[in-house]
Amino acid sequence: MKKALLFSVVFTLTGTVWAATPMPVVASFSILADLTREVGGERVEVVPLVGADQDAHVYQPRPADVKKLGAAKVFVINGLGYEGWVARLAKTSGFKGVNIVATQGVKPLQTGHDDHGHAHGHDHGGVDPHAWHDPRRVVQYVRNIEAGLAKADPAGRDYYRDRAAAYTKKVEAADAWAASQFAAVPAAQRKVLTSHDAFAYLGDRYQIRFLSPRGVSTEAEASAKTVAALIRQVRQDKVKAVFVENMSDPRLIEQLSREAGVKVGGRLYSDALAGSAPANSYLGLFRANVGAIVSALH
Ligand SMILES: [Zn+2]
Repeated sequence: MKKALLFSVVFTLTGTVWAATPMPVVASFSILADLTREVGGERVEVVPLVGADQDAHVYQPRPADVKKLGAAKVFVINGLGYEGWVARLAKTSGFKGVNIVATQGVKPLQTGHDDHGHAHGHDHGGVDPHAWHDPRRVVQYVRNIEAGLAKADPAGRDYYRDRAAAYTKKVEAADAWAASQFAAVPAAQRKVLTSHDAFAYLGDRYQIRFLSPRGVSTEAEASAKTVAALIRQVRQDKVKAVFVENMSDPRLIEQLSREAGVKVGGRLYSDALAGSAPANSYLGLFRANVGAIVSALH
């Protein structure tokens, strides 16, 4: 009796493992990989192409990426012109699965105008791709990921729906927390200097003015004129919060802070997760950024 029961348990477990071979998914960069894992759970195996602390703007795909994508059932990208290299990669790899554009239906912010006082020294106009810094827009990312995974794996539809709903609640809770944190800082004090123009969506959501020597991409170098103008602005506006980024060269910000006489307040996570806690997940990244900015502004 006992032996028969044990046998049947083992048989069921083996059957379950076989049936649940995770679906191979490729995400263009680390933040999307985390969001996709949150929605996909055990039914997916997610591999990011651009890893932690790496810059996706200037990424150059390698032969191993072609192989990974060729074997994937789903490819998740940000869109809004963020990953200029993905179309060619998808073509080379012969990818024939479901392509999820995470920003589909997200209201984009325009670049090249001066709504928030950015120093747009090198923009050619267009849209700002960094929409993940606004948690309300990330709710739309989660919806798109859920729909795409369900399309590629219809048997998992309910599972993805439940996980997306649970994760959305966490994202909304983080948004409410951030709003209460910023509410304690007078609006006139909410000015932050960073390496490149990655945080306009955070600024849009919580009324923070971000300044940076570079535009929305890390491709262009800042001109001496832009840097000189920023130094004047930092002094004049008494900007207290100056940050380096986890995936950008810190030297320009260090130079700026020296010349403007303001201390670097730490590091923000802009375009990539960190390799270790607390910013090794999207929610960890978001809370770390908000915490660092709020404490620098006080
Ligand atoms: Zn960026």
